[in-house]
Amino acid sequence: EPQPIEDDGEEVAERLGVRLTSPDRVVYPGQGITKSALVAYYEAVAEAMLPHIANRPLSLVRCPQGRAKQCFFQKHDTGGFPPQLRSAPITEKDGEKKDYFFIEDLAGLVAGTQMNVLEWHIWGSHFPAVEQPDRLVFDIDPDIGLDFSAITGAATDIRDRLEALGLVSYAMVSGGKGIHVVVPLEPGKTWPGIKAFCRAIAQNLAAEEPQRFTANLSKAQRKGRLFLDYLRNERGSTAICPWSVRSREGAPVAVPVSWDEVKGLKRANGFSLDAAAQRARSGDVWEGYFKQRQKLTDKMLKAVGAE
Ligand code: ATP
Ligand code: MN
Ligand code: MN
Repeated sequence: EPQPIEDDGEEVAERLGVRLTSPDRVVYPGQGITKSALVAYYEAVAEAMLPHIANRPLSLVRCPQGRAKQCFFQKHDTGGFPPQLRSAPITEKDGEKKDYFFIEDLAGLVAGTQMNVLEWHIWGSHFPAVEQPDRLVFDIDPDIGLDFSAITGAATDIRDRLEALGLVSYAMVSGGKGIHVVVPLEPGKTWPGIKAFCRAIAQNLAAEEPQRFTANLSKAQRKGRLFLDYLRNERGSTAICPWSVRSREGAPVAVPVSWDEVKGLKRANGFSLDAAAQRARSGDVWEGYFKQRQKLTDKMLKAVGAE
C-alpha cells in the first residue's frame, strides 16, 4: 500500500499565489479526489514532472464538472486563465497565429488544476524551437480484449529496434490501455523527418508481423492487433505527459517504468495518485533520460527506409 499524500493543496496554492476556488470540490467521484488533493499530488511529483512539461506547447483536457461529466481538449488560450498558465503564439498550418499554453513551474500545474485540467498533453518540442522535435513517442494502442503481454512484448520489440539503430528509449504506462515508448532527442530534424522515421518503423513492424501489428488508424484493421500509433509525431500532435493524471475512471496516472519492470506489468492504469507520488519520490525511474545526447541521423532514416 503506498503512503497517502498529505492533502495540503490549499496551502500549496496560497504559497504559490494561485487562487484556488472550491478546493473541496470532488473531481473524481469514484475516489473522492478533490481539487485540493490534485494540487497536493502535483506538488508531490513536480520535481519529476516539470522537466518533462516545462516550456512545451500543451493541449489540455478540461473537465469543469469533474471527470464523470463532459470533458474537452483545449489547445488554444482563449483568455480568462490564471497568469501562471502562460501562452505564446504558434503559426498554424493555415498561416494564422494562435496562442498555445505552456507552463514553467508548479504554479502552472496548480493554475491548470484551478481551471479543471485533468490531463496534461505535451508537444514533442519546446518553445521557442517548436519546429525542432526533441522527443519521439511510439503509442501502442491495443484492440480490446488483447492480453497485456501483447503490449509489453510490442514495447520491448520497439525498444530493440530503436536500440539496433543506436537510440535509447524509455517506457511509460499511459494510465489508459497502452504503453508509450519514448525517445529523447537532441533537436535537429524538423517534423516531417521525425514523422517519416516513426511511420517507417511502425509500417516495417506491421509488414513483418501483420498478425500482431497494424500501422493503420482504422479500427477495422486493429482486430486482435496492436495499432502502432506513430501519428503522435506530427507537428501539433501531443501525447500525455509523464506523471499527468488521466480523466479516466479510477484517476490513473501516466507513469514512467523501467524496462525491467515492463515484462511484469499487467495493466497500464495501475498507478493511483498515491502510488505515482511514491514512485516519483523514490528516485529516477528513467535513468539518464535527460542526459541522453542522441540525434536522429540520415543514416537512421535510411536504415528504416524513411523518405
Ligand atoms: P491509451 O493507452 O488508452 O491509448 P493514450 O493517452 O495513448 O491512452 P490515445 O487515444 O492513444 O490515448 O491518444 C493518444 C494521444 O492523442 C493523446 O494522449 C492525446 O495527446 C492525443 N489525442 C487524442 N484525442 C485527442 C483529441 N480529441 N484532441 C487532441 N488530442 C487528442
Ligand atoms: Mn495510446
Ligand atoms: Mn493513440
